[in-house]
Amino acid sequence: MTAPIDLRSDTVTRPTEAMRRAMADAEVGDDWFGDDPTVNRLQDRAAEVTGMDAALYLPSGTMCTQIALHALARSGNLVVCEESAHVCGMEAASAAALSGVTFRTIAADRGLLTPGQVAAALAPDPYDVTAVDLVAIENTHQVGGGSVYQVDQVRAIRAACQAAGVPLYLDGARIFNACAVTGAPVSAYAAQVDAMMFCLSKGLGAPIGSMLCGGAEFIRSARRIKVLFGAAWRQAGIMAAAGLIALDEGPKRLHEDHENARVLAEGIADLLPGAVDPAAVPTNIVFVDVAGTGRSAPEWADRLRAEGLLVTMVSGKVRMLTHRDVGPADISAALAAWRRAAAG
Ligand SMILES: *Cc1c(COP(=O)(O)O)cnc(C)c1O
Repeated sequence: MTAPIDLRSDTVTRPTEAMRRAMADAEVGDDWFGDDPTVNRLQDRAAEVTGMDAALYLPSGTMCTQIALHALARSGNLVVCEESAHVCGMEAASAAALSGVTFRTIAADRGLLTPGQVAAALAPDPYDVTAVDLVAIENTHQVGGGSVYQVDQVRAIRAACQAAGVPLYLDGARIFNACAVTGAPVSAYAAQVDAMMFCLSKGLGAPIGSMLCGGAEFIRSARRIKVLFGAAWRQAGIMAAAGLIALDEGPKRLHEDHENARVLAEGIADLLPGAVDPAAVPTNIVFVDVAGTGRSAPEWADRLRAEGLLVTMVSGKVRMLTHRDVGPADISAALAAWRRAAAG
């Protein structure tokens, strides 16, 4: 039996030979003391690429965002976000446990907030009881199907935030996928927000790690919170060496993942009419709405696994992500698995 095709996430990629060599050869220090030269190079590079003052290398995107919430929002206050955003859908318990923060959520088409929605959510409380400390947006939006904000849309949301005096945070776990679609450099998005994070470990293909980026003062407090949360990770340069390659090489090939996702979506739309709209698959995330197929998402996932294809289930749908370790032949094989699963 050959290895299954793994479309559960774009986090499943294995490090390339070049990454493994760079990791073996990495010059390291002690990150607690701030003298790991490879970590420092990666942080400098992330600051340069985003055009922000400084960056912090952290183990996960979740930790980046939780540190940002701790720095930018006070216990008892609110963060405004879209209702299916990762920050509240997958991390609300972390925000509650670590920072006493809760959310004011907005339902938005494909997860993309409008400036009007943000302005309404930031209207002052006439009783002066609730306070919003932060607005968080997600680009690309995962549960929204990998949907993409244009830079102008983010600029308009920023104007609504500025009018209310509230900072704007970007969950840019997959911001480079958005850049591959719009053609805008990541710095164009970064210029519209107060702080942001992006993952090295997703489409960019590093084994581990994410970057938190922002102004000098913000990163200074983020560094203190990082130690508070127990994430001074010593010779992290071993991992950062792969991160540097991911940051420089990863963005160049994301359009291939998007093309593969489109082919996958079109194939499934042919097999299960109405279950996928290929026009609504701009990046590397494909959601299949199996409601009309007579089988539940868990049933499909079991059948597909038996046919050699790994998927995830999110909100009652089947979710697949394309990534560096799957090519066009794997997409054909994945579609064949769907056809067998449908027939069986
Ligand atoms: C994956 C993801 C995160 C969290 O990143 P981890 O490295 O898995 O902690 C945050 N936001 C979005 C949109 C994600 O897809």
